[in-house]
Amino acid sequence: MKYHITTYGCQMNTADSQRLASELEKLGLCATPDAEAADVVVLNTCVVRQGPEDKAISRLMQLKPLKTKNPDVIFGVMGCLVGVREPKALREKFPFVDTFLPPSDPSALVKLLQQRGVQAETGREDYWLERDATETRYALQDADFILPAHERGQLVSAHVPIIFGCNHVCTFCVIPYRRGAERSRSLGEIAAHARSLVAQGVEEITLLGQIVDRYGYDIPDGPRLPDLLRIIHDIDGLERLRFLTSHPNYLSDELLDTIAELPKVCEHIEVPIQAGDDEVLRRMKRGYTVDDYRALIEKIRARVPNVSIATDIIVGFPGETEKQFQGTHDLLQELKLDVAHVAMYSPRPNTASASRFPDDVPHAEKERRRIAIDDLQSEVVGAINAKFLGQPVEVLVEEKHKTRWKGRTRNNKLVFFEDDTREWKGQLAHVKIYWTGPWSMLGTLEAHNALTVSGNGSVH
Ligand code: SF4
Repeated sequence: MKYHITTYGCQMNTADSQRLASELEKLGLCATPDAEAADVVVLNTCVVRQGPEDKAISRLMQLKPLKTKNPDVIFGVMGCLVGVREPKALREKFPFVDTFLPPSDPSALVKLLQQRGVQAETGREDYWLERDATETRYALQDADFILPAHERGQLVSAHVPIIFGCNHVCTFCVIPYRRGAERSRSLGEIAAHARSLVAQGVEEITLLGQIVDRYGYDIPDGPRLPDLLRIIHDIDGLERLRFLTSHPNYLSDELLDTIAELPKVCEHIEVPIQAGDDEVLRRMKRGYTVDDYRALIEKIRARVPNVSIATDIIVGFPGETEKQFQGTHDLLQELKLDVAHVAMYSPRPNTASASRFPDDVPHAEKERRRIAIDDLQSEVVGAINAKFLGQPVEVLVEEKHKTRWKGRTRNNKLVFFEDDTREWKGQLAHVKIYWTGPWSMLGTLEAHNALTVSGNGSVH
């Protein structure tokens, strides 16, 4: 039997799809890139804004004729469109879908397949050890998480969810309603997951959570993110460790010092501000002020040398005036952050902002504000990246892109270089930068290919 998964949305969805694929392969299914050739078709959905939700529904309707043609095809819908509650309305609206899977939980589809008589041909361990002895160079004894076959021994960088859900309930955000209350995975389970990935060739792990720096807060006397970083850091064979997304209120001094101390933890922090105006932040219920955020950025830079910082911005939140938007623009000009992901506000069902505040900023104005922030960031990041000219950097190579190798520096800068003399995928390359732009850089391999500066090579 073959399966096909289409994934929309964030890294958490990518990790959820990977876990689903892993479970399906334990039952003996193989991946196919062609939905028409699949016996099991799953759509992993995102509803963070109206755009991705529309896209997911339109894809679902596009796939519907497959079921009419062959009623034996099993259809699954997963993720935030489904949510953690019984999806009665979806069942009524899309009766051709066989099963609805909440985010991060593939068990309903696995059970359905088992009920229909699909069982692993042999015991799980034996099945995989046998295949791996012949197909890859990696030993999988005691593996807790088995990558789908097409990624095993191929994937350089993987995501590991460490905390599901969110308790914060920012007024614009649908995530708490769809992914439920926060639930941390145990240290042991996460470590086993990470060790299994490294045994299968993964060199870089990114720990994931809606508020990743709240890891362990839901467990009485529970561990914290710094404890987890130390444990994962000690896995032999792991080269780099990252985590995202942080909330400004939980980026503790201890966490920042741990990043600075542990060599494998990369100097890159994703910490959204969302708006550069106190009144807008209050109505978003973010729990901090612009000055708090400013002080946090100063502290991050003081404690983590050569750090790069990414933020998220929402433009056109209900009632956002031109002056308030200008506050966001001015703050980004002042702080000079490495990345700003900009989204236009879109009212989401059940959220406080959708029910309390009219969506009164016209679409064209939201678009203008988005472009203004993008243009500003392009200048800011262009200037930050120009400081890398002539500098050596360490690049973890992810893949070959056309004629060039593509990878990232420790602080998440995208670098391309050319070299036909060897296979670089999964290797650390030492590269000297000769061209920079806001979104990427070009470099040449260092003749001796040894880094001449310590740390991450960042110069800003
Ligand atoms: S912190 Fe706020 S924006 Fe982030 S997932 Fe939770 S509710 Fe949504």
